Amino acid sequence: MSADTAPIAGVELSRVFEHIETNKDQFVSRLLDYLRHPSISAHNIGIGEVAELLVHMLSRLGFEARTIPTSGHPMVVGRWECAPGSPTVLLYGHYDVQPPDPLDAWISPPFEPTIREGRIYARGAGDNKGQHFAQILAVESYLAVHGRLPCNVLFLLEGEEENGSPHIADFVRAHRDQLRTDLVVTADGPLHESGRPVITYGVRGIAAFELRARAANSDVHSGNFGGVVPNPIWMLVHLLATMKNADGEITVDGFYDDVVAPTDLDRAAAARLPLDPEDIKRSLGLKVLDSPADRLLGDRLMFHPTLTINGFNGGYGGPGAKTVLPHEALVKCDVRLVERQDPDDILAKIEAHVKTRAPHVEFVRLESTPPSRTPLDAPFSDVVQSAVHTAHGVEPLIYPSLGGSLPDYVFTKILGVPSFVVPYANFDEANHAPNENIKIDCFLKGVRTGAALLDALGRFECSRESAPAEPAP
Ligand SMILES: [Zn+2]
Repeated sequence: MSADTAPIAGVELSRVFEHIETNKDQFVSRLLDYLRHPSISAHNIGIGEVAELLVHMLSRLGFEARTIPTSGHPMVVGRWECAPGSPTVLLYGHYDVQPPDPLDAWISPPFEPTIREGRIYARGAGDNKGQHFAQILAVESYLAVHGRLPCNVLFLLEGEEENGSPHIADFVRAHRDQLRTDLVVTADGPLHESGRPVITYGVRGIAAFELRARAANSDVHSGNFGGVVPNPIWMLVHLLATMKNADGEITVDGFYDDVVAPTDLDRAAAARLPLDPEDIKRSLGLKVLDSPADRLLGDRLMFHPTLTINGFNGGYGGPGAKTVLPHEALVKCDVRLVERQDPDDILAKIEAHVKTRAPHVEFVRLESTPPSRTPLDAPFSDVVQSAVHTAHGVEPLIYPSLGGSLPDYVFTKILGVPSFVVPYANFDEANHAPNENIKIDCFLKGVRTGAALLDALGRFECSRESAPAEPAP
């Protein structure tokens, strides 16, 4: 669909768009002010100050806002619930940023935001301050024009997303009543490379583990002991070969039991995405893709689980020959999970496989996160799509899932509501890297998108349908 078929903003929303246009310069300068405050979760720098700053910003807009402690960094929660009968949207973002190192690779210092060629350069510009600040400005603009919001709004701003969100699941479980909502919208990540807006409906999960093999109590001579002393590297090679076959099939008992096949809507959406296997082959210098050869690229990334060997350590890898028989070896693996695989269940199945096939190999569980999926026909899906379309004038690309993993399940599985990721940053935002930036145009389109979303939700007939939530404790 082209730009000219985009839904037209109604009178109420058009007036908010005008307000955004009139105030764009002061919005940019206020974002610069916000970016001047470091909030580096990994180094515990500025976290409390920025959390309080957000409470102040939200309180000024009439939100009931406060920080809520966790055993890590505090959450900022703000609520505006004066639209009875209208839906409630939870807007999630994170106020912490990555460490700015290496400092000498920055053209301008990371916490002295600078505008160059239509972009704001600063740590957090794209990930994620520029994005949740756009949400706050969308709310502010709507209030400034209409004196009220068309729907109820709940902000949840996390302070340790860049540390892997270690406490968000416990927090959401403990505060599920206060976080009661009809849907969640997260503005994080980039738009498509072409500049087209994107809506993502889920993520793959992850379950990581380690296999440790040991034989003798020290490395030995491969001539004097070869054929006598078992080789831990061979132990792991044989074991790994029983876990995945040459056709790419994972051969752990029950591994695929809970995999939900993609729906017709999922397949149709994936087929419309600009995903070209030849592009990937060209850019990565590949002759072939991983087995099985006939699987579509979108299906590989969104609908199938994987078992990846991340690293294999053991023995001698230096120059020339060394006739050694090593005494230990280690393998690290991760599994990307799709709906409805459960990381604990999958790790238990892999552990059982290891125990049967190689009882002397030690199995060690590492981090895990469940997958998350919001069905493409979930309640509010049309509302979110039409809001993004209205704000950008271009139809969004619909991703049923990302290949990577984020703790989106806390919304879909713990709160039991649809969750949509609607990114605002440019594709080349350089998040986590030096010279992180957001294009001013993307930031302002983000403010428009936030406003269009509130407006569209205000016109939604609230039927309170939602997926079954995790049972209350
Ligand atoms: Zn990040």
